[in-house]
Amino acid sequence: MAERIETESRKLLGRLRDAMASDAAGQERLDRITHLIASSMGCEVCSIYLFRDEDTLELCATEGLNPDAVHQTRMKLGEGLVGRVAKSTNVINTADAPQAKGFRYMPETGEEIYSSFLGVPIQRLGERLGVLVVQSKAAREYTPDEVYALEVVAMVLAEMTELGAFVGDGAAMSARHTQPVMLRGGVGQEGVAEGHVWLHEPRVVVSNPIADDPAAEEERLIAAVDELRLSVDQMLSMADNDKDQKQVFEAYRMFANSKGWLRRMCEDIASGLTAEAAVEKEQSLARTRMGQATDAYLRERLADLDDLSNRLLRILTGQGADTGAEMPLDPILVARNIGPAELLDYGRTLRGIVLEEGSVGSHAAIVARALAIPLIVNAGRITNEALNGDYVMVDGEQGIVHLRPDDTVATAFRDKIAMQAAAQERYASIRDEPAVSKCGTVIGMQMNAGLMADLPSLENSGAEGVGLFRTELQFLVRNQMPKRSDLSALYARVLDAAGGKRVNFRTLDIGSDKVLPYMKPTDEPNPALGWRAIRVGLDKPGIMRMQLQALIRAANGRPLTVMFPFIAQLEEFRSARAELVKTLAREKRLGHVLPAFIEVGAMLETPSLAFAPQIFFEEVDFLSIGGNDLKQFFFAADRENERVRRRYDTLNISFLTFLEDIVNRCAATNTALSFCGEDAGRPVEALCLAAIGIPSLSMRPASIGPVKSLIRRCDLGEVRDVILRARDRGEMSVRADVMEYVRAQHHT
Ligand code: PEP
Ligand code: MG
Repeated sequence: MAERIETESRKLLGRLRDAMASDAAGQERLDRITHLIASSMGCEVCSIYLFRDEDTLELCATEGLNPDAVHQTRMKLGEGLVGRVAKSTNVINTADAPQAKGFRYMPETGEEIYSSFLGVPIQRLGERLGVLVVQSKAAREYTPDEVYALEVVAMVLAEMTELGAFVGDGAAMSARHTQPVMLRGGVGQEGVAEGHVWLHEPRVVVSNPIADDPAAEEERLIAAVDELRLSVDQMLSMADNDKDQKQVFEAYRMFANSKGWLRRMCEDIASGLTAEAAVEKEQSLARTRMGQATDAYLRERLADLDDLSNRLLRILTGQGADTGAEMPLDPILVARNIGPAELLDYGRTLRGIVLEEGSVGSHAAIVARALAIPLIVNAGRITNEALNGDYVMVDGEQGIVHLRPDDTVATAFRDKIAMQAAAQERYASIRDEPAVSKCGTVIGMQMNAGLMADLPSLENSGAEGVGLFRTELQFLVRNQMPKRSDLSALYARVLDAAGGKRVNFRTLDIGSDKVLPYMKPTDEPNPALGWRAIRVGLDKPGIMRMQLQALIRAANGRPLTVMFPFIAQLEEFRSARAELVKTLAREKRLGHVLPAFIEVGAMLETPSLAFAPQIFFEEVDFLSIGGNDLKQFFFAADRENERVRRRYDTLNISFLTFLEDIVNRCAATNTALSFCGEDAGRPVEALCLAAIGIPSLSMRPASIGPVKSLIRRCDLGEVRDVILRARDRGEMSVRADVMEYVRAQHHT
């Protein structure tokens, strides 16, 4: 029986191929296909519905329904049986369609007389393209073999759609990947950029889904799977010391050797598909299951299978690593996800990054931030929509991606970029001027950094020094703990490049969102409140000691500035400093030159530290407010949680009052104070921070110009009065009042 069905389905595919080979236009091809399927399967009706836009399906061809309904009948995603198949990407097979849940009567099609209904999704790798339907008068459920045959045909239709086979005069569809698309996502790094798409993993194009010779296809598949198994074994042997990586590759090996997977693909070939189309068919199914799986473990394994299928496709088609495509000069990287090391490999060549998955706190986002490259995360179906070389605009302020934008959008966007470029020119002219306000107060302008590649910005931005050097990137981008000698060499190069300007090295700040790939993950209920930063440093001092040694050796007699993150109470600071003192003594014994002098500071990131005893303020050489963390703990609003992270304004009067208390405590003890969270780089926020008495700000280099320019135009005493008046009036936030003041300065 199976043999017979296989032959039937092969015959049908053979006829389909003939229909495709003819030089008929798109619509004619679709018409022929519905005719072929209906007659081969002995059904009265066969119809093809394709997506017109994201959530509308259109009847594009039919055999058996009223021909006048073609291109007239439309339905929303989820509407009627066809809409339900499209939405759920599940098959609907019913003997009594009019009674089935969701049935919707469409008088123009005349379909109420058909009792049985079989609808299968037309999809390619999880991308929904449409629905293929057969219907008959006789009330019967279709057999599993018939369902399977229709799924195989739908798979071929999907490949053909992808290849643009139905585009043409009077055609069913406009060419795919030619329409403008706008996608919304989350902002991983602010900034705007335009350029051309560079796909991190180019799409594999299957140009021939229908097999001529199933035996030969099966041979190709088996040879490719053998090659895949070998490469997985190789990956496994290379990951010898890395337990986590090993686990992943072991899962890969399990799939690569899975008899079930191979058997299903061989069945697909027997039913008439080529080896690559068979791989894609199983991959599509896995993607659908992935979308529906609620279990995180299962989803991860399905993602492994997806990756493996991609590798297999690349082996079969010879496409992939080297597709011959050349990276555009203005690349915008598009990927489903990307690791921090891979992103660093691209480095600053990228104009922008758009990720389909990812999150604001991912390692990739940390790297993108360090590189100051605009990044959008969670951008819908971008990897399905974008093709290499497509024109794309990234709006990292609004979290919007315009793919192949039309002229009006492109013009508006370019105006925005031009305005920013003009502003940058204005900023360049004040690069070497101080950030002095109209009332004569000078505010320190420092920059944040985390990579060697950031150091040139010290010169270009006009920053007076590095107010925060995040040291975790060197730990995050490797699969192994970095060596002391490597770290020391890097820190020395940073100090060389800074040419005597102060660099404030923050010791390793891991935990919470920053998990080292080679450390055992701790399953904590609230990682942001968990074992992180200095807590790890003090409990497991080995890493911190190694880092402190690397810093001392890098300074090699030069001044050194060290800052401990996430100090919540005096004792933590004392213990951390004691580690430093011990390390200095050890280094001296070992014959290393000690720094000319050392400044030791703490980050104020937990509200508790603002209430520390006076002696704490006397003991620290300086304090730096880590506004990102401090704000999340002050308002109890997770900085990584899109739902709440913007809920409370930094210019909320309670927060400003709290910051002012810190300013006063530092003033009473003459403790140097700065602010290094993201808010320091937002002009209006920075202005308010300066107005309440924070003497120095550290921000990403690109923000120095805009912040300095605004401070120079304003009188901090006046801003302070605006803030005090708003507070007296009982305003919740001072933003509106300060904005009004700022606007008035533009007109004077
Ligand atoms: C902060 O918390 O404000 C800060 C600067 O540190 P990070 O963003 O690295 O946590
Ligand atoms: Mg922090």
